[in-house]
Amino acid sequence: MSRIDHSSSQTDSMNSEWEYAPAPETTEVNIESRYGLFVGGRFIASKGRRRFDTINPATEISLSSISESNEKDIDAAVASARKAFRGWSRTKPIERAKYLYRIARRIQERARELAILESMDGGKPIRESRDVDIPLVAQHFFHHAGWCDKLQYAIPGHHDPRPLGVCAQVIPWNFPLLMAAWKIAPALACGNTVVLKPAETTSLTALRLAEIFQECELPEGVVNIVTGAGETGRLLVEHRGVNKVAFTGSTEVGKMIARSCAGTSKRVTLELGGKSPNIVFADAAIDQAVEGVVSAIWFNQGHVCCAGSRLFLEESIHDEFVRRLEHRMRKLRVGDPLDKNTDVGAINSGEQLEKINSYLQHGVDEGATMTQCCERDLPENGFWCRPTFFTEVQPSAKIAREEIFGPVLSVMTFRTPEEAIQRANDSPYGLSAGIWTDKGSKVFEIASRMKAGVIWCNTFNKFDAASPFGGYKESGWGREGGRHGLAAYLA
Ligand code: NAP
Ligand code: MG
Repeated sequence: MSRIDHSSSQTDSMNSEWEYAPAPETTEVNIESRYGLFVGGRFIASKGRRRFDTINPATEISLSSISESNEKDIDAAVASARKAFRGWSRTKPIERAKYLYRIARRIQERARELAILESMDGGKPIRESRDVDIPLVAQHFFHHAGWCDKLQYAIPGHHDPRPLGVCAQVIPWNFPLLMAAWKIAPALACGNTVVLKPAETTSLTALRLAEIFQECELPEGVVNIVTGAGETGRLLVEHRGVNKVAFTGSTEVGKMIARSCAGTSKRVTLELGGKSPNIVFADAAIDQAVEGVVSAIWFNQGHVCCAGSRLFLEESIHDEFVRRLEHRMRKLRVGDPLDKNTDVGAINSGEQLEKINSYLQHGVDEGATMTQCCERDLPENGFWCRPTFFTEVQPSAKIAREEIFGPVLSVMTFRTPEEAIQRANDSPYGLSAGIWTDKGSKVFEIASRMKAGVIWCNTFNKFDAASPFGGYKESGWGREGGRHGLAAYLA
């Protein structure tokens, strides 16, 4: 059992309307020593009886033992979702909405517990799980509850949209509960049923969400949760009883899924990797842009698909901007995710830390200059990486082209808007982009020529359930969120 004091919490104004403030000043979180799968509305043992530990990446201590689903478990989960589809797809839309509203409210009521669990299992700072992740999770269910009885307006000109059937949903570890909400809420709103596989390192909040479904008396089998590693994900997406695959994760696995679904009748959406540009013009409000760059790359330890990991500075402001960025970076507090003053938490896994460290080495080997924050010691156990930026980065360098998925920024320069656009678009990815300037006309001109699914102007990393999210090029297929996201769950 863990206990955390929230008594003097601050609230991010962006999401404050979704905040629910239950009375107690401390929250206790129960974590069972073992978890089963959630199939047919019940927690059951896996047929293969294999298990793995989920650890707290800030301490390396095991939090719980999780079931690994095998082929028979996937068969059972898909069969349960198929059976439930008969009833759920015929449930009156207004009744479906009631379940989604109920789930959203219960998420708000259990928000503190969910935030703590998310930070313990995944390593993200409690301030972020509490003020960003969990409020957005509730918002996603509220938003989609409102759509249930308005689906005839979801796809222009298509007045009789129908659900697709059973949705196989596979999600990553960077926003575990938020990604579950992004997947489950629209699927259910449209009358589909779900089998969801969370990432191996962060299964706990998805399982807690299953408890919430039970509390809200969601009909059995409408959502099933199968835990396991990549092989479990592969078995799920390749299952013949699945009608739709929704995947969020790496481009590498996304390509494998696209290949395995080719030639089948499965509908597929893919939310994949990114190496997003953040462009700062000399006429931008510099202090505001520095803050934006900080949140673009160091939010959630840089484990963000749309992170602004390539910073393009107009040449004339490079030195001054880098000086201010370094000053700001050195103030970031790296450490215990459960401390409400922490800015940068733990790296999600030892494997991910190794990958990030190998990129740091590449950066140095390729001749870039590395600057890292914080003289203070990092905890002895756990997985930690100091916020880092590289200057003197060649556009062809590995650290400028490949997704690091850690707190590492590559700083480059440009002379003209034309050069900024060309360099920003010169990437196999196209998930997001940031533009910082005082001139509205420049914003529209640059944004219209950017090959990116999401473009932020004078801000970065802001999310809303009503706004579609997704990528160009190797960043994926389709959109999630908003009206566009619903289309992916309707025939
Ligand atoms: P990943 O290795 O692709 O894993 C994502 C999920 O797929 C996990 O649940 C994973 O299981 C599972 N998986 C692994 N191999 C599979 C296979 N052959 N078939 C089916 N499922 C399989 O990605 P990650 O390292 O967890 O996440 C980081 C990546 O996700 C980054 O590239 C990031 O940009 C991307 N991402 C994109 C978005 C977006 O919206 N575009 C959002 C968040 C993250 P296990 O982890 O349990 O092995
Ligand atoms: Mg964990």
